[in-house]
Amino acid sequence: MAKCNISFFIPHMGCPHKCSFCNQTSITGQSDIPHAEDVQKTLSKAMTDISVSDRAETEIAFFGGSFTAINREYMYELLSSAQPFIGKGKFGGIRISTRPDYIDRDILTLLKDNHVTTIELGCQSMSDTVLTANERGHSRQDVINSARLIKEYGFRLGLQMMVGLYKSTPEIDLYTAQEIVKLSPDEARIYPVVIMEHTRLGDMFKSGEYVPFSFECAVELSARILSLFEKNGITVIKLGLHASEVVEKDCIGGFYHPAFRELCESELYKNEILKLLECECRKAEKAIVSVRPELVSKIIGQKKSNIEFFKSIGIEIKVIQDNKQKEKIRLIKTE
Ligand code: SF4
Repeated sequence: MAKCNISFFIPHMGCPHKCSFCNQTSITGQSDIPHAEDVQKTLSKAMTDISVSDRAETEIAFFGGSFTAINREYMYELLSSAQPFIGKGKFGGIRISTRPDYIDRDILTLLKDNHVTTIELGCQSMSDTVLTANERGHSRQDVINSARLIKEYGFRLGLQMMVGLYKSTPEIDLYTAQEIVKLSPDEARIYPVVIMEHTRLGDMFKSGEYVPFSFECAVELSARILSLFEKNGITVIKLGLHASEVVEKDCIGGFYHPAFRELCESELYKNEILKLLECECRKAEKAIVSVRPELVSKIIGQKKSNIEFFKSIGIEIKVIQDNKQKEKIRLIKTE
């Protein structure tokens, strides 16, 4: 997996789609669209900032979600501008993100010839009902076909899904995650829905037509999906939207939290402690758990949420640290 990315945001101007969660106005209104000289300037600087030993594991990333759907001339311009910076002693390759319905053999050949190494697909849901309700403009079968083709051509595959879209349910989102596992991607991103101003989702949210499930449910569900992916060897490179001023300013609902992943990890550790306690033959009122030091804050939870949870079910938990233990969590005493 790439150690880091040098990222460029490529907006899809004039995109013909109307995804419910997308704010087209702010996308098409963006003025600073990167061109060849911007890419080359940034990459020249990155060559001096990133050590030779780290460069091979660094990818040049063209994000934005529709790379293979943008104007072909502009796509060539971007790919060509990156070529002098790829190879021995330079960066490892190019990463792009795109839609499942803009992948075919021709485009994959072109990407291969231009040193693209990783392709991320925004599948968002594997339910055709949810995809249609959110006007994604592609089907579940498009995701399956393009994911298989990407793997056949030897690219690293990343799949992105959303949690809590309009017309989805926890069961449907879990089904989406299971379907993603079947496609064996190398990595995944999980995006719990963040409802933004000036989107169709935002309008439906305001009118009451779209009622997202609770924040707690989104955390529990995302934690289950995280665990499912990790158990199946899929690296989750992102869970939750990146904190930014734009998101914080325009978010009107949904599941935004600047440390969403940590909330999910705390949820998983809470479940792990519950399982350890269940293995005890008698009901404990007090328990001491020994944990690896780097996990203390996640195990305690934000605002001590896990400690409070156990208190609410009549168990007083004390967390101690042990940097010598191999297990993440060990139950050492119950009373
Ligand atoms: S999210 Fe959907 S509507 Fe927005 S730019 Fe991408 S494809 Fe177009």
